[in-house]
Amino acid sequence: MIELENAYKTYESGSISFTALKGVSLKVENGEFTGITGPSGSGKSTLMNILACLDRMTQGKYILDGKDVSSLNDKELAGIRNKKIGFVFQTFNLLPRLTILENVELPMVYGGIPRKERRERALEALDKVGLLNWQEHKPNEISGGQKQRVAIARAIANDPVVLMADEPTGNLDSKSSLDILRVFQDLNDEGVTILMVTHEPENIKYLKRVLKFNDGVIVEDSKVEDRRVLKDIPPEEYPRVP
Ligand code: ADP
Repeated sequence: MIELENAYKTYESGSISFTALKGVSLKVENGEFTGITGPSGSGKSTLMNILACLDRMTQGKYILDGKDVSSLNDKELAGIRNKKIGFVFQTFNLLPRLTILENVELPMVYGGIPRKERRERALEALDKVGLLNWQEHKPNEISGGQKQRVAIARAIANDPVVLMADEPTGNLDSKSSLDILRVFQDLNDEGVTILMVTHEPENIKYLKRVLKFNDGVIVEDSKVEDRRVLKDIPPEEYPRVP
């Protein structure tokens, strides 16, 4: 599904250049729920932006869903991104003037999906994240955790091959963070492949695989032992994060 080979990324600004990725190779299979973790500045977001076709490598090869996307131009990359990737940001990025339903529909408007079909898909996605009753509300009428669930609905409505999230719980309290991880786990059970950047060690025990990053390279790639499954825990018994 994702095959990245020997990826390098160098940022240039004026006479200064900085290499944020120093030869990263990575394979992600269908059905994984993988976290990318590591200290701030280690290159996690840089990697995620490249995997999500939001940015381009300086050097390397990237095969996404069987297609070599390493040397596509901006327009082609945008097309691939719209079809194949669902992206969830730390800051939700909802449009305040649109209703929740319209926010979820928006990428499908850009994707040229007919009105009736995009409405059906948006409603189905809102149902999956448990927010069907909030469809006519505006983003400022719901909590942070709910906003992130809307963002997840928006990301999955187009049926992407992979759902990517950059610090999706970074702006949330511990209970809302676990709600979001629970939504991810449920989606993953239904077959959605998920890749998530997180610097919060607490989040790792809910994932299946974790990649540790340091100084632009992967320093550890391991399966999560004793993974915790949130649907087995009633929300009132969610562990408290100190
Ligand atoms: P992380 O997500 O692990 O915190 P980043 O991928 O955001 O790390 O950043 C890795 C390094 O690349 C940092 O040192 C950062 O300063 C640098 N960097 C990130 N984006 C840019 C940019 N657009 N221009 C220059 N340097 C950048």
